[in-house]
Amino acid sequence: MKKTFLNKNKTLIGLLGYEFLVVCPQCASCAKVIALDDSSPYVANVRRRFVCTTCGTTKDKVIKANGYGQARVSYEPKADYEVILIGDPYDWYFQLPLYLQIECSGNTLWALNLEHLNYIESYIEAELRESHPYYLSVESRLPKWVKFAKNRADVLKAIQKLKVKLNEKS
Ligand SMILES: [Zn+2]
Repeated sequence: MKKTFLNKNKTLIGLLGYEFLVVCPQCASCAKVIALDDSSPYVANVRRRFVCTTCGTTKDKVIKANGYGQARVSYEPKADYEVILIGDPYDWYFQLPLYLQIECSGNTLWALNLEHLNYIESYIEAELRESHPYYLSVESRLPKWVKFAKNRADVLKAIQKLKVKLNEKS
C-alpha cells in the first residue's frame, strides 16, 4: 500500500513556533529558544527565552508592538525595522542559526524542532498527497526543491542525518 500524506494543516506560526533548537552563540552546543506565554509570533509584549543548558546562558527578549498592537511578522527579509522573520534557518526572536539545518541538493534543509522535522519527513515519505493544503501550512510552504521527486532520496537522507546529529548531542 502506498503511503498517503493527509494534510495536517499545521502552520509554522500556529503550532510549531513554541520551540526552536538553535546553536548557542557562546558554546556552539544545541540550545533552545522557547516562547513563554503565547507562541504566536504576532503577539507582542510577551517573553521569548533563550536557554543553553550546556553553558548556562539565558536571555529574555520582549518583542515590542507596532501601531496595531502586534509584533511585526514577515516572510520577506526587511532590514529597516525590527521584524520577526519566518522562513529562514534562524529562530524568530534572537536570529540564532537553527541547529537542525543541513546542505541538501544544493540548498539548505532546516527545521525549527524535532516535531517540525518529523512533519517534513512524513510529507516527503508519502507517495500520495492530498491536494489543496491550507496555504499557510507547513506542507504548502515547503520550497519546491524539497518536493521534487528527484530530490526525495536526498531529502530523506538529510533528515536522517539531522536526527542522528540530534541523538548524538543528548
Ligand atoms: Zn551554550
